Amino acid sequence: MRIVVIGAGPAGVTVAETVRQYDKEAEVFLFTTEPFPPYAPPAIVDYFLTGQETHLWKGTDFPERLGLEWRPNTRVNDVRPETKEIVTAAGEVIGYDKLVIASGSRLYAPVEGAENPGVYNFKSLTAAQELLDKVKAKVAKSALIVGAGFIGVEIALLLAEMGLEVTQIEALDRVMPRMLDPETAEMALGVLQERGVDVQLNTEATAFLGEEQVEAVELESGETLTADLIIAATGVKPHIEFLEGSGVKTDWGVIVDDYLLTNIPDIYAAGDVAEAKDRITGERYVHAIFPNAVAQGQVAAYNLLGFSVPYEGADDMNSLKHLGLPIVAVGTMEADDVLRVRRGEALRKVYLKDGQIVGFRLAGDLSAAGVLRSLLIRRSNVQPIKDKLLEPNFGVGYIYSVSQSAELAI
Ligand SMILES: Cc1cc2nc3c(=O)[nH]c(=O)nc-3n(C[C@H](O)[C@H](O)[C@H](O)COP(=O)(O)OP(=O)(O)OC[C@H]3O[C@@H](n4cnc5c(N)ncnc54)[C@H](O)[C@@H]3O)c2cc1C
Repeated sequence: MRIVVIGAGPAGVTVAETVRQYDKEAEVFLFTTEPFPPYAPPAIVDYFLTGQETHLWKGTDFPERLGLEWRPNTRVNDVRPETKEIVTAAGEVIGYDKLVIASGSRLYAPVEGAENPGVYNFKSLTAAQELLDKVKAKVAKSALIVGAGFIGVEIALLLAEMGLEVTQIEALDRVMPRMLDPETAEMALGVLQERGVDVQLNTEATAFLGEEQVEAVELESGETLTADLIIAATGVKPHIEFLEGSGVKTDWGVIVDDYLLTNIPDIYAAGDVAEAKDRITGERYVHAIFPNAVAQGQVAAYNLLGFSVPYEGADDMNSLKHLGLPIVAVGTMEADDVLRVRRGEALRKVYLKDGQIVGFRLAGDLSAAGVLRSLLIRRSNVQPIKDKLLEPNFGVGYIYSVSQSAELAI
């Protein structure tokens, strides 16, 4: 059997690893547009902060160890389901028995001029390297980051730590607006400011200015801001352009069923590129996070091997590692009841709908995260223990009593 995997990010790599656990003979082609061996994007910031590579690579010998047909620097330009072939940018045609689309996501910057030279991003190791080469060569003293989402905040902290003067603009009224409620966002903002980042909220970029080289950002107010480095951190979008005309059904991402199969037999999709069902709502959505990419890579591999394993659903969660103040955000904030407690620097907010936890936001003290998530996944009725959810030792001392509680459908 020949398995072709488009993408060597966490999803594609997990497909290859999982296949090898069960099948030593299958031919596995692994494609990436990057020159590097497989790496973990969440470790990029640490890598540049500390120089430590331990958590970055899957092992530079990964392709040989797994006996893969390893294709770095190779873009797949076309998928032809009728003949079961893919075509690379260089025109090479390769047949497949099973195909996995794991092409991840790219920067999404719906702002005029975003494609022009001089707009940096942090969406891949290649992009991050290009940006940080400038910082290390000391040709840049200041940076302007457009967007204060999760990745934008990580970049701001990294560049501030590296000694740059950092300005960050955000169109909405708080940092990490999709992930955080106003109160937790305010705490994160405080830390960013303490680290020297000049955050400007309610400030929307309308254009990147400069044809040959972008040197400034135009704001909705008509004002312009400039810096030595201009970085777009405005969101991500599934990499699906090369699927145009292939017949693979896409919307925002590639549409998959409960087995991560696309509308075409023998073609699966996994990771940031896949619009898979949400664990809680059951609706299709792209939750572009590492654990979902890994879980989907596993499930896609099981199914192409013929094990028929349904995907449990994607989680909506994120955590901030480099802020100094630990923060974790899980699930939705759309609720009919919000439980809240603040003790000093620790904030806990739990979002309930019909007596079930649908989300939570923790700052400072994350010890309750594991139990809260477990209750959320199990859709337990927490109405009888509502007040306990806010106790400081919930998640530590309460684990036993909660899991034993007769009222809970755990
Ligand atoms: C800086 C940064 C920090 C992050 N931190 C966290 C974190 O703390 N926690 C967390 O959960 N998530 C984090 N994420 C998100 C997480 O890394 C992604 O969800 C995950 O990498 C998705 O994996 P993937 O394999 O689906 O796609 P990607 O990692 O995007 O990999 C896609 C692969 O497809 C290849 N590709 C694309 N198009 C083609 C083509 N046409 N032909 C051939 N190859 C192609 C690319 O070269 C790449 O190898 C972070 C992301 C970044 C960028």
